[in-house]
Amino acid sequence: MSTDTKAAKESATNGSPKPTSPNADLKLDFASFWEYSSAPESSEKVTIESLYGHFIDGDFVKPAKGRMFTSVNPANEEVLTELAEGTSEDVDRAVKAARNAYNKKWRTLSGKERGKYIFRIARMIQERSRELAITESLDGGKPIRESRDVDIPLAAAYFFYYAGWADKLDYAFPGRNVEPVGVCGQIIPWNFPLLMLAWKIAPALATGNTVVLKPAETTSITALKFAEICRDAGLPAGVVNIITGAGQTGSAIVNHSDIDKIAFTGSTKVGKIIQNALAGSDTKYTLELGGKGANIVFEDASIDQAVEGIINAIFFNQGHVCCAGSRLLVQEGIAERLITKLKDRMETLIVGDPLDKNTDIGAINSKSQFERIEEYINIGKNEGAEIYQSSCSIPENGYFCRPTIFTGVSQSNRIVQEEIFGPVLTIQTFRTPAEAIEKANNSQYGLSSGIWTDRGSKIFQAGAEMDSGVVWANTFNKFDPTSPFGGYKESGVGREGGLHGLYPYVNLV
Ligand code: NAD
Ligand code: MN
Repeated sequence: MSTDTKAAKESATNGSPKPTSPNADLKLDFASFWEYSSAPESSEKVTIESLYGHFIDGDFVKPAKGRMFTSVNPANEEVLTELAEGTSEDVDRAVKAARNAYNKKWRTLSGKERGKYIFRIARMIQERSRELAITESLDGGKPIRESRDVDIPLAAAYFFYYAGWADKLDYAFPGRNVEPVGVCGQIIPWNFPLLMLAWKIAPALATGNTVVLKPAETTSITALKFAEICRDAGLPAGVVNIITGAGQTGSAIVNHSDIDKIAFTGSTKVGKIIQNALAGSDTKYTLELGGKGANIVFEDASIDQAVEGIINAIFFNQGHVCCAGSRLLVQEGIAERLITKLKDRMETLIVGDPLDKNTDIGAINSKSQFERIEEYINIGKNEGAEIYQSSCSIPENGYFCRPTIFTGVSQSNRIVQEEIFGPVLTIQTFRTPAEAIEKANNSQYGLSSGIWTDRGSKIFQAGAEMDSGVVWANTFNKFDPTSPFGGYKESGVGREGGLHGLYPYVNLV
């Protein structure tokens, strides 16, 4: 707490404060009464090796070409570890291990036995949850509150959920003969590293497939800790293989001839490259791509509840969320009041140290993503939109971005159409439900949307007309292993999660 506030607080407790005091030192600043003392989570007990190899056939191994790269902590730019850069030789070795494990072990096990391994993995994620949460925040910049309360518990929940399906596939697909697909190549992004791994690996293993997974280059450490968990759980060697590296490594997985299915989560641009590469082959694929979710607030909504929902929709995980509600559409009659409340609420958001338990918004994941967001903020200004950023302090080092909103935007603006993948919200108004739906659907994407209203009938009507895979009503960014997730239009192909999430990993004969 600053000395000013201390003085002000003393004056407040020693009798009635004098807001008009001529003494500047005693000036009352109510906002800073609510400054939180720092409450950092400790990273002392967490061991991150100085170097990691690939995890192939049950062991950590050196990369064939010996090339390494680093992963940094985006909150302070310190190097956390060195990682192996996967080449096509490494990928080939991993695919051979996965094929071997598939033929000789995994596909021959009963569903019940497979389920036991997956349950064990889920429990071990829970046992190591604090370490995994801290690691996720260190390597990726997300606030510890989110890694601790969202990412890691959900990752465990997906493993528990799909473990439960392993011996019940006959009930999932009654009257059909269910066979695994084979060896799956899986490529994941950096925004929810362990959670995306869980979305990929849990259903694949439950249905009898083996995997070669590549985490994103900026956030690979929890995947390598997950490899330790597979080893410690006694999972047969080769069932799960983890290859680290960037786009070229991913491309080596996509183009390997002995992979039966590709599961990709990432940008629409790379999704298209993958779709091109696989066209004409019989490799199955699912693509979870970008989004530009519309969050619609009708005038009969509870405004305070909607403001919380808007904050959660766009500022959760620094806005690095494919299904973020990054386009706010608010009915004209309440727009002014809602935007005022939204700005007030933005002022209370704490941006800073990801390991501090009070932090709401952590570090932007990487320098390149930080620059991309800055570029979009400039594009917005140049397009003539009106910008408002919260006045919070941000750390000097590392990649931090203040929560940002743009008003006075139009449908054709780039900041309204393109995915920014940062804490940047555009705000438009509408008069009628039909106009809201038309604006919401006027997008190349179709991943998520939100509706805020007091009327159930409006939820059903608007929800049915929305071209998006997920529609949240009076809430946002809620995830559950039993619920399918995926996109329309350029947001992707296929569904993950729930019963639907089993389909891409089975052949029904
Ligand atoms: P990206 O597509 O560049 O990277 C995603 C992954 O693909 C990384 O592991 C990367 O190394 C790998 N990759 C890059 N080039 C490749 C290539 N040519 N072949 C194979 N693999 C390649 O995406 P990004 O910018 O790092 O991540 C953010 C994007 O991911 C956003 O657009 C976001 O919407 C999307 N995303 C979507 C979902 C979803 O579920 N729909 C979830 C999270 C992120
Ligand atoms: Mn990192």
